[in-house]
Amino acid sequence: MDDKPSPGAVSESSEHLFSFGVIADIQYANLEDGYNYQRTRRRYYRHSLLHLQGAIEHWNRESSPPCCVLQLGDIIDGYNAQYKASEKSLELVMNVFQRLKVPVHHTWGNHEFYNFSRDYLTNSKLNTKFLEDQIEHHPETVPTGSFYAYHFVPFPKFRFILLDSYDLSVLGVDQSSPKYQQCLKMLKEHNPNMELNSPQGLSEPQFVQFNGGFSQEQLNWLNEVLTFSDTNQEKVVIVSHLPIYPEASDSVCLAWNYRDALAVIWSHECVVCFFAGHTHDGGYSEDPFGVHHINVEGVIETAPDSQAFGTIYVYPDKMMLKGSGRVTDRIMNYRKEKPFPL
Ligand SMILES: [Zn+2]
Repeated sequence: MDDKPSPGAVSESSEHLFSFGVIADIQYANLEDGYNYQRTRRRYYRHSLLHLQGAIEHWNRESSPPCCVLQLGDIIDGYNAQYKASEKSLELVMNVFQRLKVPVHHTWGNHEFYNFSRDYLTNSKLNTKFLEDQIEHHPETVPTGSFYAYHFVPFPKFRFILLDSYDLSVLGVDQSSPKYQQCLKMLKEHNPNMELNSPQGLSEPQFVQFNGGFSQEQLNWLNEVLTFSDTNQEKVVIVSHLPIYPEASDSVCLAWNYRDALAVIWSHECVVCFFAGHTHDGGYSEDPFGVHHINVEGVIETAPDSQAFGTIYVYPDKMMLKGSGRVTDRIMNYRKEKPFPL
């Protein structure tokens, strides 16, 4: 059900090129309702599965189905680890996803790492790298590092890039590894608190344990893909669990080195929008370079009588987000300077 009337232009009958779905922070657990850390928002741990089910039924029913769905991370809650229910809960959620008639691309968030190691995730159904596209004769656009990232083309001239915002992180990393030591050092340099999940007193509040960042290796790879997309006159959609634009997000939710990611994106013309989860409250801002930053409202903090997912209809000159429930409708025009050639 929708809480608001849909704008006339965003309907299934419109002449869109293709569409895709987004859903964030399902955080399923077989637990009674609870609250967030600040005890300001209710969390519907069990009902999140029904919200997912509703979203999938909606997408399956569309007369022109979306090309794919982007799952923005935190698919099950960290509490599952405590109750040794991680695998069972993941299986339940994945069984619901199986009903979806189109491919789903999974990103990894902090809650994935509360439940599983990076090695486990790499070998799990949450690794959807097999859906990636390769660009012929451009080996620099193939990710080679230990990060979980890839790109794909759901429609000619549109490239989607999935980023790993926990590439630099103390979560999910073997504590005996040099990378863990390097990430812990980076975190502690910016966060002197005993409790590393606390942003108290920090000038850069994003430096908390539940966030992470992008390695230089991953940023170099992103730069290569965006260079190819610029040359090929493509439009690009980027997906990441952590947001990177302060105007669209609570600063405590940003990726550690969000400025580095913005610098790469801003040095290219092709990026239309950046989708993230993690914030639960949602958020939106268009940056000075015309990139639309959308933080999708989290399923976990969505009351049973509402919903939280979105469908984006892609047009030659814009993308239109049709939100369901508490996800807001948005019109995301492409930058004016260089109209999309069709
Ligand atoms: Zn998260």
